[in-house]
Amino acid sequence: MKNNKLYQYCENHKKPVLILGAGINGCALFRELALQKIPCLLIDKQDFSSGASAACSRMVHGGLRYLEQGEFSLVTEALTERNLLFRNAPHAVKPIKTSVPIFNWLSGFGNSVFKFLKLNKAPTARGVFIIKLGLVFYDWFARKYHQTKKHRFVWKAQAIKQHIGLHKNVIAIGEYSDGFVKHPERLAFELIQDAENEFSGARAFNYVEATLGRGCRAVELKDMNSLEVISIHSPIVVNTTGPWVDFTNASLGVTTDFIGGTKGSHIIVDNPNLKSAIGDHLFLYENSDGRVCVLIPYGNFVLVGTSDIRIDHPDQAECTTDEIDYFFQAVNNIFPDVVFSTNQIVAAFAGVRPLVQSNQNFTGSISRDHQCQLNKTDNQITIISMFGGKWTTFRSFAESGADMVLQELNLKRSVYSKNLAIGGGKSYPDNSDEFIIDLSKKFELSYQCATDLFKRYGTYSERIAEYISDKSEERLGSKSSYYLFEIEYLILNEKVKQLEDLILRRTLIAFQDEITISLLEKLAAMMGKQIGWSDKEVHQQLETTKEILINRYRIRNL
Ligand SMILES: Cc1cc2nc3c(=O)[nH]c(=O)nc-3n(C[C@H](O)[C@H](O)[C@H](O)COP(=O)(O)OP(=O)(O)OC[C@H]3O[C@@H](n4cnc5c(N)ncnc54)[C@H](O)[C@@H]3O)c2cc1C
Repeated sequence: MKNNKLYQYCENHKKPVLILGAGINGCALFRELALQKIPCLLIDKQDFSSGASAACSRMVHGGLRYLEQGEFSLVTEALTERNLLFRNAPHAVKPIKTSVPIFNWLSGFGNSVFKFLKLNKAPTARGVFIIKLGLVFYDWFARKYHQTKKHRFVWKAQAIKQHIGLHKNVIAIGEYSDGFVKHPERLAFELIQDAENEFSGARAFNYVEATLGRGCRAVELKDMNSLEVISIHSPIVVNTTGPWVDFTNASLGVTTDFIGGTKGSHIIVDNPNLKSAIGDHLFLYENSDGRVCVLIPYGNFVLVGTSDIRIDHPDQAECTTDEIDYFFQAVNNIFPDVVFSTNQIVAAFAGVRPLVQSNQNFTGSISRDHQCQLNKTDNQITIISMFGGKWTTFRSFAESGADMVLQELNLKRSVYSKNLAIGGGKSYPDNSDEFIIDLSKKFELSYQCATDLFKRYGTYSERIAEYISDKSEERLGSKSSYYLFEIEYLILNEKVKQLEDLILRRTLIAFQDEITISLLEKLAAMMGKQIGWSDKEVHQQLETTKEILINRYRIRNL
């Protein structure tokens, strides 16, 4: 089927800025340019936010450990952005109590000095004093907007009481407040929606790939579904393809060596003992090899991560059995009595950090800072590559990328995004309960349904509530927290092209232990009906999605 919308866009806009890669950074740049009313086309060769941005640990943070690497400006930037997100996206980014268990007093000083002086030492355990120093600095850097409580120490007896099963050798827990985003893919999608609503010259398409056209100044866009090719004359191309940045540049005829990516995996485990041990705290702790690992409450489950392994090609990233063993062993270093089995794994996922090329031996010490670099192709197309960085810093990073585009176009910035709410964070109520009651009255929804929608979509819940027909609040399945009318809304309004887009990114269905074969069949049939797939296409979607869910995401029950 021909991609009419893309074709029309290219007919109407002869020289838009072309953004390649719709991870969080591409989406944020897209919004920045739309705010300045600069025609821009955002494309992704897969689904939106299906790369590193979907594989992150979901921490919205400054990065306590980057302090000892002397990355003060990164920590300040990230903490400022975290605090802005608490204000601008309160529906998506929430404060979370963060706990660092500590097992000795003095250890870590020598190492931290080495790392601070860039003498490349893999860390050993950090003791009370070094963590105290880090947390004092962290509070200081986070002071802007005064949104989080200062740190405190919880000493052994209280810590063991608070977290049943915590290793008895613990001396204390350093406790502070940081940020967490449960569904990062949604916030990225809301940036796209905001940009498209802001300016008709800004349009985003998934499943479209770009390569350099022969001879002329054109870039060729290939729709991955119809295989149709459309030429576009964009004088500026911004490459926000994260870990794929060098591969994308190569396909545009430019050789670069910007990225030295490392793979990180996570598992979501259904282990009630571990869940009750961590409570509502995010645990940040060191494994015996010096790597910092995380345990994060994730609904009824626990998100366990992460590894940091060099990898040649981002397409190869998948969570291996060795990594799973590593996670189980690492958790047992702080909660020794927790017993794991592989059938507790609800889902697993992996991605590649788009880190700046580095020869550090210890991958955890590679800088997480971001960069923009400018190159010209032989036929004088300007390519701006944006890479590195954290999910947390997407707005400030996009702001600097947009400034570079403005400079190339000889234009001045007219709008700043710093104080702009995102998506369902707009007109966010001070009193959520009042909003939920009003929502339920206005659309004749049950209180439970209004609450579910508000929790997932913030103030955008109104749009979805409007879509309810026949007052039916039927759920998608007996275990599902999603409603049928809600799913229909998403299919029709959120650029869902494949079954996996719906299950893995527009919703959290895959990560909440909801999936069964019959649920997949139901969703495929719904999508087939709404999108107009043939029976053969429905069957193909079902088979491909099953394969992905089993092999790449280790979804249990399939
Ligand atoms: C394991 C792990 C844990 C992390 N944890 C955190 C964390 O807790 N907190 C935090 O702040 N940060 C974290 N990060 C870092 C953060 O996730 C990344 O820095 C950020 O998501 C990078 O976003 P991006 O948009 O640059 O790249 P990506 O999200 O990878 O987006 C790139 C996009 O480009 C597309 N693409 C590729 N090639 C092409 C092409 N030729 N044409 C068009 N499109 C193309 C891909 O499909 C993809 O959607 C983590 C990263 C990983 C991997």
